This record gives sequence, C-alpha cells and structure tokens, in this order.
Amino acid sequence: MRKKLMAANWKMYKTPDQTRDFFRNFLPLVSGQTRDEIVVCPPFLDLPAAIESAKGSNVAIGAQNVHWKEEGAFTGETSAAQLLAIGVTHVVVGHSERRQYFGETDDTVNLRLKTALEAGLTPICCVGEVLEEREAGMTDDVLRRQCVRAFHAISAKKAAKLVVAYEPVWAIGTGKTATPEIAAEAHAVIRYEAGKIFGEEFAAQLRILYGGSVKPENASALMAQEEIDGALVGGASLDPKSLAAIVKY
Ligand code: PEP
Repeated sequence: MRKKLMAANWKMYKTPDQTRDFFRNFLPLVSGQTRDEIVVCPPFLDLPAAIESAKGSNVAIGAQNVHWKEEGAFTGETSAAQLLAIGVTHVVVGHSERRQYFGETDDTVNLRLKTALEAGLTPICCVGEVLEEREAGMTDDVLRRQCVRAFHAISAKKAAKLVVAYEPVWAIGTGKTATPEIAAEAHAVIRYEAGKIFGEEFAAQLRILYGGSVKPENASALMAQEEIDGALVGGASLDPKSLAAIVKY
C-alpha cells in the first residue's frame, strides 16, 4: 500500500504574514488527518514562517526548487543545505512553469533531482505533456523521455525518496482536469518506465501524484484511482478551507 501524499504548490503567492494566517486556519482543519502525508510548498521567502507555523503538526514544508551545487556564485538560487538548515523536507523539481518560463530542461531536472536525493530531501519531480503533444498522440513518448532523462544515473537505492507528479501542462491553472482515467493511464506509463530504470519492486512502491486543476469537487474521483497516489495542488491550495477539503477528499 502506498501512502498518499497531498502536496500544495503556492507558486508566487502570499507574504510571510499571509502564510502565518493560512496555517492558523488550516492546521485545525486537518489536525486529525494522518491517513495521508500533507506537504505545503510556499515561496522561498515564506519558508521560515511556514516552518515555524507548522512545527509539531502533521504538515511538512517543501520548497519549490533547489540548485544542484553546494554553494557558489549562483545569484537567486538556493542550495539543498540551506533548505535543510531551516527545516525544509520536500522540494518540487522540474515544475512545468520552471520548464516553460525559466529554461529548465530535462538535464537540469536531473541535476536538481540528484542533489535533492543526495541531501535527503524528498523531491517531487514533475513531468507532463503540453496540449500540442497530447493532440499529436505523443504523450507516452514525452513522459518516457522526461523520466529517462530525469532519472539518468540515479540508482534505485539513491532514489528511495523519489516522488513523481504527473502534471499535464494543459490542465495546470486552466480549470481543465484530466479525467481520472486519463491520469491513471499516464501514471501507468510513468510507473512502467520507472520499473525499467529502477526495477519493478521500486516502481511498485513509487508514489505518483496527479496535478492539474485539482479541486475539492474532483479530488475524491481522482484519488479513487489505484494508480493515483496523491495530488499536487496549485490554485486550490491557497485557501485553507479548500486545501483542507482536498486533503480530506
Ligand atoms: C501546480 O501548480 O502544480 C498545479 C497543478 O496548479 P493548479 O492546481 O492551479 O492547476
């Protein structure tokens, strides 16, 4: 049995004060929820406020990116050691918005993933096709390529904490959700590919989350799919009641 992971990606929203407010309202709503793991990934600036607010609770805190170098002249970047030093446990890697707007490639995703795993962070590695790729019938090929390159030269032992998020780009922030069946099909492709790379035993326990316009109204149908091991939630994670309803699907 794979324990589901319900992760929130706040993107570039909220100040530290708004972060504290969110947790004040959110934590009581999910205090008894131990069925699944819960992770909130705020912007870097809000991480200390989030960590302080969530201390002693059932909610872990993740970052939205990590650089692959230990330290150095990399203006605007953040290292794994810096994240660990303040209590971050998870990190989103290769989000489609990083790929689309900030030059993230399959190769840099691989570097970030290796570093996160080496450091003991739990990476949530995002993969997913754009609309033109889906319409051209290329979804499976795109997912295979993204997995092969992201997981390149990583051993199954090192990858133990790996989590993958299938996020069809056409469903992110658009209100269009993949049907549970479409998502489950894509997850099966990812799991099969992970099996070829890391071995079947590893693949059987790999958690694959779905992301793309997850809302309180569609969470339970998505989570009912055996292939779906949790959610990565953007827009609907900004409101404490909405995220709590998703967590409790
Ligand atoms: C995301 O940011 O990873 C995401 C899935 O966003 P949304 O839920 O808003 O589509």
